[in-house]
Amino acid sequence: MKDVTPADWRFVLATDLDGTFLGGTTAMRRRLYDWIESNRDQVGLIYVTGRDPEFLPLIWDKGVPVPDYVVGDVGTTIAAVEGRRIAPIPTLEAEIAERWGDATSHVRALLDSAPGLRPQDTPFRYRMSYHYDPAAFDPGVIMPVEALGLDVLISHECYLDVLPRGVSKGPSLKRLMAHLGVAEEVMLVAGDTLNDLSLFQTGLAGAVVGGAEPALLEAVTALPRAHVCTAPGAGGILEAIATHRLHPEPPEAHP
Ligand SMILES: [Mg+2]
Repeated sequence: MKDVTPADWRFVLATDLDGTFLGGTTAMRRRLYDWIESNRDQVGLIYVTGRDPEFLPLIWDKGVPVPDYVVGDVGTTIAAVEGRRIAPIPTLEAEIAERWGDATSHVRALLDSAPGLRPQDTPFRYRMSYHYDPAAFDPGVIMPVEALGLDVLISHECYLDVLPRGVSKGPSLKRLMAHLGVAEEVMLVAGDTLNDLSLFQTGLAGAVVGGAEPALLEAVTALPRAHVCTAPGAGGILEAIATHRLHPEPPEAHP
């Protein structure tokens, strides 16, 4: 990657991964990825994902562009990418760590054996995440968790995340952009499920990609800058770059 600073960026894509940057047809992904790589001196790339950072190098090995920064773990990790190393930015994470405190053990005691929940097999720092079965789940367990000063976020009808209160993808992305001094006008956020809603609530130009979760589609009807795309995944991002006129030479949305 070239040695470019965020001040050089004329366009920044802050994108969810699963179903969004990694979604769409092979041809759509190739077109988007090639356009980013050929404009890397002026295009910034930020992953905003529920994935934990250890997963990311696995997808880079498959030809997916390496980002400049990562907002990971549903917003509880904010990190720079140095070469192929993910380096958390302590000044940006301090408040997240403080809000989480020693919540892990309390959350585990409340939820690990709750009906309809199964802990995800990943060591998390400032969150807990579960596989979620809506048919078996008892919503009564949410209130005691919220009483600990935490937020509960359900998405895709199969994941339940417990996060420090007020921390999610959107607020963490804004914290990172302020730290980098990137203007809001150059940004596009993209996502496909409810845990991406906070990205669209930032008021930044948005791409709700085709095939998005119905609950997200309903929630963004009140958010005029969240463009609901026709094409899925990477194809939707291509469409939104052109629709929002975010780059003087946008990639072709259709071959
Ligand atoms: Mg997704």
